[in-house]
Amino acid sequence: MLKRSLTEDAQEVFRAIALIELGARMQVLESELTLSRDRMIRLYREVKGVSPPKGMLPFSADWYMTWLANIHASLFYNTYLFLKNEARCSHLDALTKGYRLYLEHCQHSETEPVLDLTRAWTLVRFFDADILQLTKCCRCSGKFVAHKHDLQHNVVCGACQPPSRAGKTKKAAAARQEALSGARVAQAA
Ligand SMILES: [Zn+2]
Repeated sequence: MLKRSLTEDAQEVFRAIALIELGARMQVLESELTLSRDRMIRLYREVKGVSPPKGMLPFSADWYMTWLANIHASLFYNTYLFLKNEARCSHLDALTKGYRLYLEHCQHSETEPVLDLTRAWTLVRFFDADILQLTKCCRCSGKFVAHKHDLQHNVVCGACQPPSRAGKTKKAAAARQEALSGARVAQAA
């Protein structure tokens, strides 16, 4: 293995900590960083207080096509691309900064984040592998996540055309939430 300077080593550790704090799984760390697996597991335990979860990563591109996931994924990927192409960030910086901006956006608009960091990372991989593309919405001109060979013309994004069940789903979710918090209050009493 190549000898790294102490500064470079420290930078890798900081990158690992940033990713772990944002919720990265081990597979993300292993593919993005050059630290040994042992050190990354130790870092993970230190930052999170628990061992990293085992198991496979989610890897279906279809996940990004459902209505709500598509809006969130499109928001994140547009931010990522801006940071990478316009702000000249490295892939890893664009990923972490873009993901932080995405979380901030969710917080400001009082929306639960749908995309976790690992999903965001997988999304970028799908674009790199030419499985996904950005398609321009013919109503708002915004670019949204689509399958590579999907239609490119006269298509409308999820934000411009919410499915009719979206309102109902939201109401159902709110009702569920209320029921849950009611149960918690009841338990506490
Ligand atoms: Zn649109």
